[in-house]
Amino acid sequence: MHEFPAAARILEIALEKAQENGADRATEIHLVMGDRCGYLFESLKLCFEAAAMGTACEKTELTVERIPAQLQCDRCGTRFVKKPFSFDCPKEGCGGSGIPTDTGREFYVKYIELSNDGSK
Ligand SMILES: [Zn+2]
Repeated sequence: MHEFPAAARILEIALEKAQENGADRATEIHLVMGDRCGYLFESLKLCFEAAAMGTACEKTELTVERIPAQLQCDRCGTRFVKKPFSFDCPKEGCGGSGIPTDTGREFYVKYIELSNDGSK
């Protein structure tokens, strides 16, 4: 699973954050993932759980906000959300096809919720 390095990096960020703030653990890590970021959330979650075993992130919940991939028409410039298996411009009579844009390639940690309840 190629999500493992990404999951390990997220874990690193969360553990650093927890340490910086003197927290016992992280309760939630909220990610932003574009449809074209190249990672599957479910795999990422499994990798994260495996990597976080025995750390302050062992029971951390991973949540995600997905960004649909957007295309831009090569004829009329319309930006539109990509439909499965189609790159066609939705504008009637245009007939152009969409070129991938950077919208949908997002992949970052938006926020981390920390807890200091002494249950370590
Ligand atoms: Zn068009």
